[in-house]
Amino acid sequence: MELRAYGIPMAISARPRVGLPAAATTDTAPGTTAPRDLLFLIADTGGGHRASAMAVAHCLATGEAGLWSVHVLDPFADASPAVVGRVVALYSPLIRHAPWVWGALFRATNSRAAVAALRGTVLRLVEPGLDDVITALHPDAVVSFHPLLNHPAAHVLQRLPGASIPLITVITDLVDVHAAWTYAGVDALVTGSPAALDACRRAGMAPERCFDLGLPVDARFLRHTPPARAQLRRRLGLGHDRFVVLLSGGGEGSGGLERRATALLDANLDLQVAVICGRNARLRRRLESLVADSRLVVAGFVDNMADWMGAADLVVTKAGPGAITEALSCELPLLLTSYLPGQERGNVDLVVGLGAGRYVPGIRDLVGAVAELSAPGSPALAAMRAALPHAARPHATAQIAGLVSRLARRRR
Ligand code: UDP
Repeated sequence: MELRAYGIPMAISARPRVGLPAAATTDTAPGTTAPRDLLFLIADTGGGHRASAMAVAHCLATGEAGLWSVHVLDPFADASPAVVGRVVALYSPLIRHAPWVWGALFRATNSRAAVAALRGTVLRLVEPGLDDVITALHPDAVVSFHPLLNHPAAHVLQRLPGASIPLITVITDLVDVHAAWTYAGVDALVTGSPAALDACRRAGMAPERCFDLGLPVDARFLRHTPPARAQLRRRLGLGHDRFVVLLSGGGEGSGGLERRATALLDANLDLQVAVICGRNARLRRRLESLVADSRLVVAGFVDNMADWMGAADLVVTKAGPGAITEALSCELPLLLTSYLPGQERGNVDLVVGLGAGRYVPGIRDLVGAVAELSAPGSPALAAMRAALPHAARPHATAQIAGLVSRLARRRR
């Protein structure tokens, strides 16, 4: 079973950069029916939207082999006027350098009226390109993994002649739900936690359309027999005997990773530090200039986060929903250092409430907590490890894939 990109050149529009998205599928045996198309909508802002979509795509491609071709599309980047892509690309510098501005934007748009205004203006720009893709593909279902994409998708689907195509929203935030997620014109909406489910119901979503199934997580994080840790560490360039602290800041490598990594290295603790810089090339360059320190391993955007988590003893991260869900799934204790104002505040309380991690915003708090947790036989680390097996929702991805499959089959 493998992912395969079709790379079909778009013949249905002269719009530049519009193309049928890459597809996750399995080869069809001769004589069997061709796989049916599903369209998953994401934005590469951060890493969580794509990771969630790929987890469900993998699950469908492996669980219902040969039945589905899942096309994953970032309409902002690949099916919209260039100006839309440029505006959306501001997300990365914004959350890295001025997260408070992001928080203000989140609050300013977090109402039904503000979302309606966005739907009637900016989001209209996404519709023509999306219309081209949906008309060409005629998928059996469209699934939005981004709060702003269910709106243009619903408009396009409402206008499409013929049998109705189901639209599903999978919320990729854990607790706090922005008003844009709760668009009533969808056939089903999946939440990541009971708190998010309550928020959606309070926002007026029909209860029979809401499913609290959890956040999707790739099966690699759920391996019950992970490759031997020593082998993983060797492969990743880590020493096999020292306590490993994994630092990550989501897809954009945000959250002050350089200060935190250097403080940990300067603290004279018996540990090694692995930093995943994501798309933050500047952070990577700066940390690589320190690499003379053999206790530091630096990586850019990795596609094997499950291996890094499998090799680590502790993860230090901003309170990203993806990172948290992955760490809970592979039973890795967490230290949360920051949260994106708006959608990540509630994640901190969730993790602390589960007993799976702590919130350590200050550098001194961080170093103190790592010193305590990395001490041989640390009771605090043992307590977190004991809480972890009850914290994850290991069936979320399969259940979401099942829901998508059920709704898509109903259309035939
Ligand atoms: N991620 C990844 N490679 C990297 C950095 C991050 O695959 O180098 C993934 C990570 O495993 C997680 C997602 O990106 O699935 C980050 O999601 P999260 O919700 O934590 O934060 P976001 O980046 O969306 O703000």
